[in-house]
Amino acid sequence: MKDAAPTTAPETFYLKDYKPFGFEVEAVELTFKLAPNSTRVLSKIRFAPKENAADPRFFLHGEALKLISAKIDGAPVTPELIAGGLICDTPDTPFTWEAEVEIDPAANTALEGLYMSSGMYCTQCEAEGFRKITYYPDRPDVMSTFSVRIEGNEKVLLSNGNPTGSGDGWAEWHDPWPKPAYLFALVAGDLVNHPDSFTTRSGKDVELNIWVRPGDEGKCAFGMEALKKSMKWDEDVYGREYDLDIFNIVAVDDFNMGAMENKGLNIFNSSCVLASPETSTDANFERIEAIIAHEYFHNWTGNRITCRDWFQLCLKEGLTVFRDAQFTADMRSEPVKRIEDVIALRARQFPEDNGPLAHPPRPEQFQEINNFYTATVYEKGAEVIGMLKRLVGDENYAAALDLYFDRHDGQACTIEDWLKVFEDATGRDLSQFKLWYSQAGTPRVQVSEDYADGRYTLTFEQSTPPTPGQHDKAPRVIPIAVGLLSPNGGEVRATEVLELTEAKQSFTFDGIAAKPVPSILREFSAPVILERETTNAERAFLLAHDTDPFNRWEAGNALATETRVSMVTEGAAPDGAYLDALEKLVRDDTLDPAFRALVLSPPSQSEIAQSLHDRGVTPDPQKIYDAAETFAQTLAQQLETSLPRLYAATTVDGPYQPDAHGAGLRALNGRILSLLTRLDGGEQAARQYQAADNMTQQYAALASLMKAENGESQSQAFFDQWQSDRLVMDKWFALQVACAAPDAAAGVASDLTGHALFDMKNPNRFRAVMGALAGNHAGFHHVSGAGYQLLAKNLIALDSLNPQTTARMCAAFQTWKRYDSARQALIRVELERILATEGLSRDTHEMVSRILQG
Ligand SMILES: [Zn+2]
Repeated sequence: MKDAAPTTAPETFYLKDYKPFGFEVEAVELTFKLAPNSTRVLSKIRFAPKENAADPRFFLHGEALKLISAKIDGAPVTPELIAGGLICDTPDTPFTWEAEVEIDPAANTALEGLYMSSGMYCTQCEAEGFRKITYYPDRPDVMSTFSVRIEGNEKVLLSNGNPTGSGDGWAEWHDPWPKPAYLFALVAGDLVNHPDSFTTRSGKDVELNIWVRPGDEGKCAFGMEALKKSMKWDEDVYGREYDLDIFNIVAVDDFNMGAMENKGLNIFNSSCVLASPETSTDANFERIEAIIAHEYFHNWTGNRITCRDWFQLCLKEGLTVFRDAQFTADMRSEPVKRIEDVIALRARQFPEDNGPLAHPPRPEQFQEINNFYTATVYEKGAEVIGMLKRLVGDENYAAALDLYFDRHDGQACTIEDWLKVFEDATGRDLSQFKLWYSQAGTPRVQVSEDYADGRYTLTFEQSTPPTPGQHDKAPRVIPIAVGLLSPNGGEVRATEVLELTEAKQSFTFDGIAAKPVPSILREFSAPVILERETTNAERAFLLAHDTDPFNRWEAGNALATETRVSMVTEGAAPDGAYLDALEKLVRDDTLDPAFRALVLSPPSQSEIAQSLHDRGVTPDPQKIYDAAETFAQTLAQQLETSLPRLYAATTVDGPYQPDAHGAGLRALNGRILSLLTRLDGGEQAARQYQAADNMTQQYAALASLMKAENGESQSQAFFDQWQSDRLVMDKWFALQVACAAPDAAAGVASDLTGHALFDMKNPNRFRAVMGALAGNHAGFHHVSGAGYQLLAKNLIALDSLNPQTTARMCAAFQTWKRYDSARQALIRVELERILATEGLSRDTHEMVSRILQG
């Protein structure tokens, strides 16, 4: 079921070309007769022509389908099969369309539509997978109720909505809520469940299940608790109640994404739902809690109110990411969550926004929509909503959301509909704010200051560099949260939000007794790059005194970047003042351990490369790696006498609990262990590995040992212990590559692709090895080009099996123009090699072309 090879450039779709479908779909009935290589799908769909339709043509999408028969109102018809679907003559009055098709789930390695994973049937229909199941108007603005009958020998047969009947070898489901086809789901397999229940605030009992393969039952309890917390939170915070009698989650091993919010039947990558203390790290637990919440929250923001077309994807994703971040902040620590999100934004979205793949949160064109499930649509989409909330205030935000749910329930909407509820609820004109949805690129904001006679002035200048297809950009509305500190550390002005709307704009503060130290962009109030001439002394002051935890961390992060940059460019020694400040912070027991762990975590080597590039210096990945090593070694030596005490003080006693406090302590403990290992060669890490009763500590010890090239026996022991656990083995594979020295990384990754447990068809395993290679900055960018060659070779091999995952992983090359001409030449050869591959998928073709052209 590979996508057809583009013989010429693939077709491009444009937002401006939107036309509604010419027919209402009144009801859909589907029957599935399951067989691995020859599943029959019978559809019976009631269509009604719309009056004055802009496009009266009866076109149904369909791909990789064998049409057995078609009827209209019971009479056989012969539709014309055309590219991407079929067309057919139809009556002028409502009619019933019936079709029978045959599909081959077992051969479907693209994992879109109906496919098989370890012997179970499952589906993935977002964005355009339903057209691989049957002929249908597969577009999000076509919403209908679905009734489904499944015939198969599997013990468990599931679909959307409520169960309406079952017997030996069959089950029937009915979903009363109209939905687009991308939310359709079907699962059939010999599964077992972890059951529970939830009573909604209006007193309705909902049956809850997490369905897994036998043997995984013990890994469901945490996910189930997360689900119940999410259901309660959405009632309490957004007033949203669940709307079916049953909510099912299914864990699947082979899955392209993290999880999918199909109505009443969420399908999860098993890595995003299965958890146990022995096999999952704290980071896994936090991510599982967040993804369960995310998919559940889609029930209202995505399912009840969906997107009119795929250009509006950020309408559901940006809002739902924003909601899941609020949830995590409420369940855990608000500042820590904010810092983690900004780290992720800078690691994933900023490179995208400042490179050849830059696009606005609402793109205006695409060839393959699967290529737009991006950090820009998701994470920047969420940042835009955070800014909106900050600009209108919490009460107005709540009122606007209530209006959104009231006005648009059951509809397929646009960004215009979304902004209109805010305009109507607040009376505010959002036309300038809307630029955030149409302009690509990260705005730069330059700040200068002036102080005289008790008056302090901040002047901001904004500009956004050109991005593909967008050159001159108008100023945006940028909310900048600012607080002022007195030179001796107290706060002289609490946080206030300045609204930057012009290219250059000044704001004054009167009655300021002494020149203050400004704390700008508190809580990272806008996704921009702040440029300000300042000193390391002032950064150290903010690191010690800022009352805003985000900016406190930010000051430390800036100091870390500055010292790394001067080590690389001038061969300087690590900055002593910064080392002293770090030492003080790490010993400060009054500070949240999770926060201290974040302050101790260095900026990534890729970020340092970007920082050098921004300063006009061509980054040398090996030098950046060496600077990181030198800095960590120097820090370890500076802390030498206190490390054993700190290690002991941050060791969590008692049985493992995946709560925020314990996770924070273990994160700090892990950072300290990695420093300690630089001094003791791994003695403490080996003891911790031996004693660990949970994956967080076992993994931290193993990572420290492997980084010190002293973990061979533990790595083997880890493999022996966990070789039958797929998810833990993904960690093992990734760690081999992540810990490899720059000149060894490509070789290690190459050897792993020949390992008996390496499986190209499993996206998690492929990402574990190739994702870790791309993430090993100095290894991937090794001057030999071996990293580039290996990734390209594997992407070419994967493309014929799974275009979606291949295309996404091409983004590893998106920053190529940062590097020297020799590396650029090596990468160009690989990109051109991929592009020249015979039968290359539309997905990969689009991604590689954009990277090359940008
Ligand atoms: Zn989502």
